[in-house]
Amino acid sequence: MLNSQAVKELSDIKERVKHNVHFAEVQKYHDNVLWVTISRTPRVTLDCTILFTEYYPQDPLIIQLKSKTLSDELLKGLVKLLDENCKKYVGQYQVVIQMKFLSDYLVDNLFCCCFDEFQKIKREVCSDFVELKPKQKKGVAQFKIKCRGHQSLVKITVPVNYPNEAVAIDLKEFESTLPQYLTNPILKQAVEEVRKCVEPPLNLKLLKGKPFEIKPSFYHVVKFLIVDSLLLFKQTECKLCGEPAFPDNPNEVRTYERDPMYVERVYCGHIFHFGCLHKLINTPPFNENKQCPVCKLTIYHERWKETPQVLADRWAHKQAKQRELEEVIDFLQ
Ligand SMILES: [Zn+2]
Ligand SMILES: [Zn+2]
Repeated sequence: MLNSQAVKELSDIKERVKHNVHFAEVQKYHDNVLWVTISRTPRVTLDCTILFTEYYPQDPLIIQLKSKTLSDELLKGLVKLLDENCKKYVGQYQVVIQMKFLSDYLVDNLFCCCFDEFQKIKREVCSDFVELKPKQKKGVAQFKIKCRGHQSLVKITVPVNYPNEAVAIDLKEFESTLPQYLTNPILKQAVEEVRKCVEPPLNLKLLKGKPFEIKPSFYHVVKFLIVDSLLLFKQTECKLCGEPAFPDNPNEVRTYERDPMYVERVYCGHIFHFGCLHKLINTPPFNENKQCPVCKLTIYHERWKETPQVLADRWAHKQAKQRELEEVIDFLQ
């Protein structure tokens, strides 16, 4: 049974919620239960079931949350916050206060639409090398990557309509001590990776008859751009010579394309020194395509487009020249 104070609170609850709480609407009430929906976007929508106890408002409200799209972990956290918050307001009307608290939370925390991805990034990506500074209200995640003398800065914005709208990489504010000849194509590829999450491919055959489904882009692009590119480039060595791909001093990074220590990124994404790669490609065996020593995919790069036959002929020619030279030296001795 509701006591008289609760009855009074419920008498104009529809109007009061409507006027005081953004994005909220009372669906119905029945006996001692009230149902309210808070919907910021179709993806950021909460269904609240509010229970009035016999001694309400001397008792706190009991609020349960459900959502078809928001993470269970987030809902659990919100229920805890509401429980604590309700206790502060015992003796007062609590419905509008608590609904406003929830609505403000959804507005002020743009990462709530990607809560699980955000937690996964904190767990799996953040480390001594990667620092994340989130600006919840703007939905901007700023990553600082620091490793062996090098630094990069990446800003990624999660839009209100995420995941229907993809995250945005701030290209203007991107910074890195790694050379642009390497970071520019990576950024382009990252933008493309993001686009593919929300737009179907031009060639619909790639979908193999299945309907296109929007995929979350936040974790995906963080993994690609930060973990598998910027951080890896700095941590990794050239698997062909065993030396670090980049020197620890950013000023010593080679930028001349034919410098043996210039870093090349091949089709599979792995990086090698130009000199090491050049040697691998131009020495036998030539009967099959050269494989990436890291992932075993065929090495493909615009700088080495020759067929195995051309490479074999060139190598044989070089060997013949070397033999001739040695014969001359023998003859002279
Ligand atoms: Zn090397
Ligand atoms: Zn590879």
